[in-house]
Amino acid sequence: MRKAQQHRWIGFLLWGLITVLGCVTLARMELTQQREAFETDARIVHRLLSQRVVQHDAVMATLALLQTAPDASQPEQRLSSLYPQIISVQRRDSGASWPDERLRVAETLSRALRRPALAGVDFARGRYQLVLASEPASFALQMDLRAVVPWSEWPMAPETSPVRVMLRHEGQDWIVQPGRLGQGGWRFDFHKHLAADSQPFDVVALRQVGWLELPWAWMLVWAALVAAVLAGWLAWLRQRAARRRAEELLRLGQVARLNTLGELAAGMAHELNQPLTALLASTQACTRLLEEEPPDLTVVRDAMAQAVEQARRASSVVSRLRRAVERPDLAAQLQPVGLQQTIQNALYLLEPEFKRRDVAPTLALPIAPVTVLAEPVALEQIIHNLLMNALQALEQVPSKERQLTVAVHAEAGQGTITVTDSGPGMTDAVLARIFEPFFTTRDAGLGLGLSLCETLATGMNGSLKAGKQEPRGAQFRLSLPLAPAASEGQP
Ligand code: ADP
Repeated sequence: MRKAQQHRWIGFLLWGLITVLGCVTLARMELTQQREAFETDARIVHRLLSQRVVQHDAVMATLALLQTAPDASQPEQRLSSLYPQIISVQRRDSGASWPDERLRVAETLSRALRRPALAGVDFARGRYQLVLASEPASFALQMDLRAVVPWSEWPMAPETSPVRVMLRHEGQDWIVQPGRLGQGGWRFDFHKHLAADSQPFDVVALRQVGWLELPWAWMLVWAALVAAVLAGWLAWLRQRAARRRAEELLRLGQVARLNTLGELAAGMAHELNQPLTALLASTQACTRLLEEEPPDLTVVRDAMAQAVEQARRASSVVSRLRRAVERPDLAAQLQPVGLQQTIQNALYLLEPEFKRRDVAPTLALPIAPVTVLAEPVALEQIIHNLLMNALQALEQVPSKERQLTVAVHAEAGQGTITVTDSGPGMTDAVLARIFEPFFTTRDAGLGLGLSLCETLATGMNGSLKAGKQEPRGAQFRLSLPLAPAASEGQP
């Protein structure tokens, strides 16, 4: 697998892993927060309800005490106005009997326990009765559960809160606050006995946290953040790989130049040998002529003129060598070049190659000239290479199916040439390595053509991209910066 692809996979896996870990952490934090809020509310509810019901014990004890006071005039009748939760008060004077058997049983229990006792719990109607045995009269209070709840101090909004609060007694539930209990997600519960022995109810609180309540927006932000950081990292890796490739190409270019230089040096030695031998001969002749008495100055002058001529020849050979060794700096040699004209030139040069393979190119060239900033020879070299590659690819399909299209566009400050062929195209694996130096699938190939083309394109501030053509074939796209408008139309 190619390194860039490997990096992409690693980046994708890392993104998935970090995103999942971050999202799980965010979800856990949210759930912990929700649970803490729920437990705080439930504890407050338990304390408030406990305080209320304990009050009932105190009320009854006071009632029992008041009846023995000298000025007692049925104080129980005023209770309902003081405590809205007390619906009615019944009393049984000594000698009388309760209208309800349950009240009698509760009174017996109350006497034994020396505290109020429950008589009847009717959670369906939200009522219950408390009986306190005392002398001379015993009392029974009928309580309204709804009024027992201290709504003014309630920690939640009873209509909208998602928490369900109930009072439970021997399988009966009285719903204090309905809450919303959905399906799925996480359930918190709270279960605690009220702090009053006379009213042995349980406070039950339930809360269902659904999937929709998880902090999805934050999770998305996290995923996007991780993606952005990883994309930056991948871009940095890509850039580094591109730089390395450029360095590699440069090195290869230098090696190629050195090889050529070897051949060049041999040629130059041969070329230099001639003028230098002639120069030597002329100067030796001069020395000899000058020794004669009297010397023939006309002949000496001729010989010197020949020596100068040969020295010039040697010097020009040396400057040619220097020019060949110097690295061409494409960016410094950019000039406006018409794309259409360059393509026509290349097609003209390759005409025999096209004929030999029975290929007629289709041209899609705009009438208005598209002029880019390029080094003319380098541009010609790239187009020539792309066309030759396309022709070689077309050799592999039957003549009738051979199509080659060359198109030119200008947009967004770029002039673009696309060369499309209906050859066998490239697999993803080939496409991934196509610009690597020495990568070739052809027996006779060197694998240097496209890598050098890419170097030339980037050297001219442009780009060369390869892609697949549907249903079959390859497409190469060369983009170069458009020449400034002022230079258009100039010869
Ligand atoms: P070479 O031509 O010496 O093989 P190149 O750099 O020109 O080297 O091309 C490298 C490889 O890219 C080729 O061997 C071939 O596999 C592939 N290739 C290039 N152009 C095309 C094309 N038009 N269609 C299919 N494959 C192509």
